[in-house]
Amino acid sequence: MSESHIELSTPATGSHGPGRRRSASELKAIAEQAGTELAEAAPEQLAAWAHEVFGEALVVACSMAGDTVLPHLVSRFAPGVDVLFLDTGYHFAETIGTRDALAAVIDAHIIDVLPRQSVAQQDAQYGERLYSRDPTLCCALRKVEPINRELAGYEAWVTGIRREDNALRAHAGLVEWDQTHEMVKINPLAAWSFDDLTDYASRHHVPINLLLAEGYPSIGCEPCTRPVAPGEDPRSGRWAGVAKTECGIHL
Ligand code: SF4
Repeated sequence: MSESHIELSTPATGSHGPGRRRSASELKAIAEQAGTELAEAAPEQLAAWAHEVFGEALVVACSMAGDTVLPHLVSRFAPGVDVLFLDTGYHFAETIGTRDALAAVIDAHIIDVLPRQSVAQQDAQYGERLYSRDPTLCCALRKVEPINRELAGYEAWVTGIRREDNALRAHAGLVEWDQTHEMVKINPLAAWSFDDLTDYASRHHVPINLLLAEGYPSIGCEPCTRPVAPGEDPRSGRWAGVAKTECGIHL
């Protein structure tokens, strides 16, 4: 197996994608047909289908948290696939270590997607700890704009969202039309439980974020993530104390 390499994506880079060959209406028709025909498909079947239909215009998003099985699974069927990691500048060291460990064992092109501003530049413009005063703006600057910039060059993206994550994701389909990004969205793990993830990781020796075993079932940026007690909502440790459950990239 050839190893991944990790590349930086800056605003000047634009998207790493090959661009879109199909119109939005053509992509929407594909999403709607596949959404019906593949509604019960296994993740492996979805990955093979996605690679066949979209080729290099397929990209995987990975937070290097509980979703490392996703690029592993997709890259088995789409070797060399592009994988987007939003490098916000606020990640736990364990998350960066997970990215590096994953890159060593899968055949994929991991892209570190950078915000327009470094943390220091953002602090200078908006003041320090913007995440504590306006997390929606901080996520917009460090996650939403960067992912939108990259997704513009692809026709379909694969995400690790699962129905059990929260109420907003409870009805996620395996293949959907993503109106926000005007592209096809594939959620192969939508029906999986947390145990399904760890089972796959164990069977295939996929590196997983060490924080998962330390009370962090959902892992985002360090300032906005705390551990949760057994039995608590797994995502209650994200933006705790703030009426916010999503960073915005799936809205
Ligand atoms: S999760 Fe927190 S630190 Fe990360 S981009 Fe969002 S508000 Fe900023």
